[in-house]
Amino acid sequence: MVGPEPFIAVGPHTIRELLRKEERAGRERHWQQILGMYHARLLMGGYDLKRFKVVITLPRNKFRLLVAFYIGHCRLKKHLFNMGLASFANCRFCVMEPETPEHLLMNCTAVCRRRIKALGSMFPNRDCIAHLAPSKILKFIYILGLDESL
Ligand SMILES: [Zn+2]
Repeated sequence: MVGPEPFIAVGPHTIRELLRKEERAGRERHWQQILGMYHARLLMGGYDLKRFKVVITLPRNKFRLLVAFYIGHCRLKKHLFNMGLASFANCRFCVMEPETPEHLLMNCTAVCRRRIKALGSMFPNRDCIAHLAPSKILKFIYILGLDESL
């Protein structure tokens, strides 16, 4: 054996934990460096195993609805306008700003009361949005009546 004395072995749990930390850091670094996905970054923040386990066990229709809202590729006016399928991009509730998941969750003045009812806050900030439970976002979508149109 070559090296300083006394030799202290590294246990398998230490190695496993180091690999786990390295994998977690690599995943976070990849998420930060990848281009695009503005709405997903805003609504989900970073990777969250607890949220992943909740989302993956949702029924198919709720899963589809939530993922469409998370990534912004749904029948909200802004996305439809970008695709050339709508004549205007403004919000169907306030008609003041482009209708995006961000606008509905954070800024839309026309849905303040419904936002309080579903999310517990009138104007949640970005940090609050990133930590919202999927069930709250789904409740918000249902309260807005968007579940049929998304
Ligand atoms: Zn609005």
